[in-house]
Amino acid sequence: MNILFAASEAHPLVKTGGLADVAGSLPRAIRNSRQEIRLILPAYPPAIKHAGRLKVVAELPLPGAAAPVRLLQGQLPHSRVTLYLVDAPAYFDRPGGPYSTPEGNDWPDNAERFALFARAVCRVALNRAGLAWQPDVVHCNDWQTGLVPALLSLEATRPATLFTIHNLAYQGLFDHDRFRSLQLPEDWWSMEKLEYHQQLSFIKGGLVFADHITTVSPTYAREIRTPQFGCGLEGLLEHRRQHLSGILNGVDYRVWNPGQDALLPYTYNAHRPAAKQNNKAELQKAFGLPVQSERMLFGHVGRLVEQKGIDLILQLLPELLQRRLQLVILGTGQPALEEALRAAGRKHPDRIGIRIDYDEALAHLVEAGADSFLMPSRFEPCGLNQLYSLRYGTPPIVRRTGGLADSVVDASEEALARHTASGFVFTDASAADLLQAIDRALALYARPAAWKQLMLTGMRADFSWTRSAAAYIDLYTRLSDLRPVARTRPGKTSSTDTLTVSN
Ligand code: ADP
Repeated sequence: MNILFAASEAHPLVKTGGLADVAGSLPRAIRNSRQEIRLILPAYPPAIKHAGRLKVVAELPLPGAAAPVRLLQGQLPHSRVTLYLVDAPAYFDRPGGPYSTPEGNDWPDNAERFALFARAVCRVALNRAGLAWQPDVVHCNDWQTGLVPALLSLEATRPATLFTIHNLAYQGLFDHDRFRSLQLPEDWWSMEKLEYHQQLSFIKGGLVFADHITTVSPTYAREIRTPQFGCGLEGLLEHRRQHLSGILNGVDYRVWNPGQDALLPYTYNAHRPAAKQNNKAELQKAFGLPVQSERMLFGHVGRLVEQKGIDLILQLLPELLQRRLQLVILGTGQPALEEALRAAGRKHPDRIGIRIDYDEALAHLVEAGADSFLMPSRFEPCGLNQLYSLRYGTPPIVRRTGGLADSVVDASEEALARHTASGFVFTDASAADLLQAIDRALALYARPAAWKQLMLTGMRADFSWTRSAAAYIDLYTRLSDLRPVARTRPGKTSSTDTLTVSN
């Protein structure tokens, strides 16, 4: 099968969150199962920098672009996955993040940027980029690619489309003027199509028009059909329930494996877990905390937003300070949360370590050095940090929602006796419920043999991509059987193979 995988970020090229981890590792796992999958991304400066050798393979005149858009071809690093970068410097060659300015505000022309990206993806999807390659399935991810299934629906002959929701809370909403300026079909401005409460919704392009929709865990696939989690789109998702399913994300254990993690001062594994203690000491030092091996150390890494329940941790600080524990938090996000955390760290420098930063190496050290990982998310489509925590012998404390519910087994006495327990699961998004779970963790930590058993169960659990990649391949097969596409192989039309891009 030929699959085109479209995303707005992919590790190690450019990353703001879990989507990048998925887009950097799922295509590789699928390629290893001998499917021809190609990844397409906007050519942001860090993507060009980290991609290595690139050559220009096409120039595409696209509506909305002043100059032809160049398609660069290379390789997703450390893989056999062909990479395309959509090079439109006026749109993507900027400082800051993929979606926001260096000051953290959304780019004002995000609608134009990702409409242009979608149009480039469609050219490749329809074999109209001069690449002599016809995908059977186009796999789109999150709102930035939402217009792809919509635009492809206008074509009589087209590949099948799959749209994956990594986070329904981000929808790509823009005003009516933007809708007009993008020159989309007039009738798309309706509730049945792309309009959402008088706004243009990019994500609806995927939810309405894709042949199938997936989310990144089975529980989240059910949750988003309810008002509590549906972000206003629950009616549409309920309507499409026959074409909606959940596939849990996997982990790239080449990147996240304490046995061979080059970012760690000390490696360790389930057979030799002792060196985890050395990482704990390094972590305490890195955050300026007293090095105390017996004191339980809780960690958190993530975007500092309401979704992640950071405010619950903040509410609990007075209670936590009465217990024999330390806490480290690494993250960036909402200024008010950042400031509240900074203030707590300043006030209790020997108990609470705060780092407001995006730091890949430190994220690995938190996973390795903490005794337990806090993840009290209000909702969590899949969540990757709890999967990393399991592998790093850092039993996570999670709320029973989305992928957290699908991956962590609560340390009830029965589960401990059966050796299936891997962490602590609580139900309500309240400080009281979180505290109860933390107290249960403290109590179990005081029973070294039981704690070790808990750690080892998590370390031995297998969340590799193998199973999830097989589920995606099965889905791709069913979708392409429903919508076979003629694999004509026209000669190249606008190829400019000889040009090479320098970094
Ligand atoms: P989400 O996609 O909602 O941000 P996930 O748990 O699925 O949450 O994935 C988050 C990914 O981003 C993880 O790989 C995590 O380590 C990484 N990450 C988030 N914040 C930071 C940070 N401040 N520094 C380093 N890595 C981070």
